[in-house]
Order: sequence, then C-alpha cells, then structure tokens
Amino acid sequence: MDFDLFVIGGGSAGVRCARIAAGHGARTGIAEERFWGGTCVNVGCVPKKLLVQAGEYGGFADDAAGFGWEIRKGPHDWAKLIAAKDAEIGRLNAIYRRLLESAGAQIFEARARLIDAHTIEVGESRVTAERIVIATGGHPTRPDIQGAELGIVSDDAFYLPRMPKRVAVVGSGYIAVEFAGIFAALGAQVDLVFRQPLPLRGFDSDLRQALAEALPRQGIRAHAGCSPRGLALDGRGRALTLSDGGTLRADLVFFATGRRPATDGIGLEAAGVARNAAGAVLVNEHLQTSQPHIFAMGDVTDRLNLTPVATAEGHALADSLFGGRPRAVSLQNVPTAVFFTPPLATVGLTEEAAAACCPVDVYVSRFTPMRHTISGRARPSLLKLVVDQASQRVLGAHMMGEDAPEIMQGLAIALVMGASKADFDRTIGIHPTSAEEFVTMRVRTRVAGVAKAAE
Ligand SMILES: Cc1cc2nc3c(=O)[nH]c(=O)nc-3n(C[C@H](O)[C@H](O)[C@H](O)COP(=O)(O)OP(=O)(O)OC[C@H]3O[C@@H](n4cnc5c(N)ncnc54)[C@H](O)[C@@H]3O)c2cc1C
Repeated sequence: MDFDLFVIGGGSAGVRCARIAAGHGARTGIAEERFWGGTCVNVGCVPKKLLVQAGEYGGFADDAAGFGWEIRKGPHDWAKLIAAKDAEIGRLNAIYRRLLESAGAQIFEARARLIDAHTIEVGESRVTAERIVIATGGHPTRPDIQGAELGIVSDDAFYLPRMPKRVAVVGSGYIAVEFAGIFAALGAQVDLVFRQPLPLRGFDSDLRQALAEALPRQGIRAHAGCSPRGLALDGRGRALTLSDGGTLRADLVFFATGRRPATDGIGLEAAGVARNAAGAVLVNEHLQTSQPHIFAMGDVTDRLNLTPVATAEGHALADSLFGGRPRAVSLQNVPTAVFFTPPLATVGLTEEAAAACCPVDVYVSRFTPMRHTISGRARPSLLKLVVDQASQRVLGAHMMGEDAPEIMQGLAIALVMGASKADFDRTIGIHPTSAEEFVTMRVRTRVAGVAKAAE
C-alpha cells in the first residue's frame, strides 16, 4: 500500500486528521480539490465573523455619542473590506498547507474519488491506502422553486463585487440570521423570509423569541411563516414571490435554506460505503463507515456540523489509529453561537428538550447591559439556565447579549464537568459584567417538564 492513511478533503476535519496522523509517523496522503482549510476558513466561520465585525464598527460609532464622542460615519467601503478579508484568508490557506507539509503529509491538490475499498484516484494518479478518511464536507443548496438560480448561496456571499442595497434572505438557520445581520449592519434594507413562526429552529424558545424581537431593532423585516414560491428578474434586481401572496423586490436574494453532504461522484458505491437518503455517510461512534477501514467525519456525516466538532473528530481518529490513544468524541454539551448583533450562544439542552424528559427549574434574567444604559440603544440581554429539578444539575445555558459566545465557552466546561446549580451559586461573579448574572440567578422563574406538580 502507498499510504497508511489517505484523507479525502482538506477542510477542518481532514487537515487535522492528516496532520496529527503524519505527526504520529503514519504515511499520510491528503487530497483537496478547492481550498485548504475548507468551508470554515474560506467560505464559513472565519470570513463570516470578519464581516460581522465590520458591521459592529458602524454600531460602535453610533453608540459612542452617548459617551460624549462625536463620530461622523463616512460611507462603508465594501471592496476594501472584501480585499482585507481575502488577504487574511490567503494567509490562513498558506498556514494550513504549511502545517500539513511540515508534519510530513503528502499533499495532492486535486479531486479524489474512490475506485475500490483501498484505491483512490486523485487527479491523474492512483494511490492505495490501508485506511481511508472521507472528509469532503458539504455544500449549500437552493430551494426547489422556479428561478432559484437567480439567487445566491453562502459560498457566493463572500465574493460579491458590491454591497447590495436591498437584500432578501431566505431561511432561518444560523447562516440566514447571521447574514441578515451582516447586510443590515452594513446599511442594506433586509427582509428575512422563513417558514417557521420563529427563527433558529432547534434553539431554546426564549432565545428564539428574543431574536425575533431583536430583528426589527436591527432594521430587519421578518416574514415569519412564509416560503418562497418563485424568483424572477425585475429590471436589474429580483422579484421574490412569497407563499402569503406578497412579492419582495431586492437587488440580491440569498438562499440560506440548507446544506447537503458532498458525497456525489466520490465512489462511495464502488468502495461499499453506505450513505443515508440525504446523502450523509453513515458512521458509528468510532467514525467507521460500513467498511470498517474507511472512516468519515465532519459535515459529510451531517450530525453536528460545526468546525470544532470536525477538528476534534479528526484529532481523535488520528490519535486512535496511530497515537495509541483511542477515544471517541462526545457530541453532548457542544457549545455553539450565532454571530448576530447581539450574539446568541448556547450549550446543553433547551428548556423544551429537557422538559420532555424530566421536571426542570428554569431561571431567566433579562436586563439592559451597562453599555446601553448610556448609549441609549435598546438592546436587552437574556440569560437562562435550565436545571434538572431532581439532581440540580445544570442541563442547559443560553444567552443572547454582548460577548455571549465568549461567555458560553467557559460555561461549557462547567456543563461538561456536570456542574450543579449550587456550583454556579457558590461561584463569585466578576463585577460589573453581564456574565456575573449566570452566578447570581437566585429566584426560579418557572418549573417546566413532565411533573409540573412540583411547582
Ligand atoms: C456560512 C457558514 C458559516 C459557518 N460558521 C460557522 C461557525 O461560526 N462556527 C462553526 O463551528 N462552524 C461554522 N460553519 C460550519 C463549518 O464551516 C463546518 O462545520 C466545517 O467546515 C466542517 O468541516 P469539514 O472538514 O467537515 O468540511 P469542509 O470544511 O467543508 O471541508 C471539506 C473539504 O473537502 C474538499 N473536497 C470535497 N470533495 C472533495 C474531493 N472529492 N476531493 C478532494 N477534496 C474534496 C472541499 O473542497 C473542502 O475543502 C459555517 C459554515 C458556513 C457555510
């Protein structure tokens, strides 16, 4: 065999797996067809957060007036922002490539495809490997409506030649919400169209409600309970017809309506690797596919599609196979954030999920953060804990407010360690912060769950 391990896909999962495996001395090859670092670095987390930060500066400039600063905002230069973003992404691409090379992995800049259970065609060559990792990620999809090709998807949003004045975003997952926030903060008129009554399905209902209230404060018009019906040209813009009979006119229509695992045409059938109806590679808890020597990880398995999950899986598999440290990655208590303004972050169970299995004590705190008592901006924060009534273990923590993602990372450690409400209560706060509210919530807001009689 040419390699001990061959990795298909140089994104978050694949790069980490190949780098660590090579570091353990395994003869490792890795193929990437598009860009080192994959979705996260090139058309995902990293460039997105840079755009979010660009929008935040406009808000800071407005808020500063309350603190005595007189700042006159000039126009925003989209081309300058995109050029700065591209330079940073180029730097990161090079780092990812260098890390692989210096670890001793052999890199292939070409599309790879399985020929059989041990043979990979990569560009013009064929190689064989003892073990194979499929880490091909996913790609954005468009809704099945007439004219869908006239809209863009998230991959395109990072390369727009100019900032649109009117944007219609379709979807209510975190990508839809974040881009609605980005375009609004940079001055566009934004409509957000989604089928559900509230945005962010799967998040805690108090957070979803708080976000729904925050959308208009950011200048975003929400069209809840609405689906797109068709998209057509409208002069130089677009006309999006909706299920409620209305039509939205916009310069740009952005479909954030889901992603599909990248498993077409990569030879899964030839190698005997099974996938589900949605195209995701099926794996067990050790990331083994239906072929025990072929593994899959990250977004291509469509379980919890987040970069830190993908990298943790890549690392764990390489350690397990070649480092003498076998382990599996737990997908419980994985924290996550939505980089809206203000941001949302969450770890553990929502109130609804927890209450479905046991009675829970719910603590909710709503307040105006210190900055906005003076800035004059209406931007309340919401903090919430969901606590198992019997054991008093904290099952979920949720926040919408400044610095929520930074705060939630620390709380995630407490939840992973199994902290109780009493542990939170005996922790001394840092004053004056928003975060201290998590350790000073003494009065239960309500009881929820199967045995409400406990109230
Ligand atoms: C707009 C957006 C924002 C996001 N924001 C966040 C965030 O804030 N936080 C977070 O944790 N996650 C975020 N994510 C999700 C995150 O980007 C993914 O979970 C992560 O990139 C998954 O890593 P991966 O390695 O599984 O796949 P990917 O990063 O997609 O990498 C797969 C790689 O495989 C390559 N490839 C595919 N097929 C082949 C082939 N046949 N041969 C060779 N190469 C191939 C692709 O070119 C790609 O580079 C975001 C995603 C998007 C789209």
